[in-house]
Amino acid sequence: MHELALMQGVMETVKESAAANSISKVSKVRLVVGKLSMALPDSMQFAFEVISTDEELFRSAVLEIEEKEVVCSCQQCQQLFTQQEQYIFVCSGCGSNQVDIIQGRELYLDYYEGE
Ligand SMILES: [Zn+2]
Repeated sequence: MHELALMQGVMETVKESAAANSISKVSKVRLVVGKLSMALPDSMQFAFEVISTDEELFRSAVLEIEEKEVVCSCQQCQQLFTQQEQYIFVCSGCGSNQVDIIQGRELYLDYYEGE
């Protein structure tokens, strides 16, 4: 379950930032997770809950996840299109499979709130 490791990394980042900003309680953590990032939002949520019960800093925190669609750009006709079916990358305009994935692989901490 690599979501646990991913989540640990995110929470380390928040912890360091919270310490630097004298924040003792985090109320919200917001993540952006691309649909190609291989991280399942449900598993991320679960990992967050597992880790946060052991951490005073995150005891009352909630996790919000923004899922990003997979967006591709066609090298042939430059059309941008959203890929609904994962792992099939064919241009919806011209049928070319020469496409660049320009969104959907990201996984990062958007922001967090605390006091
Ligand atoms: Zn095309």
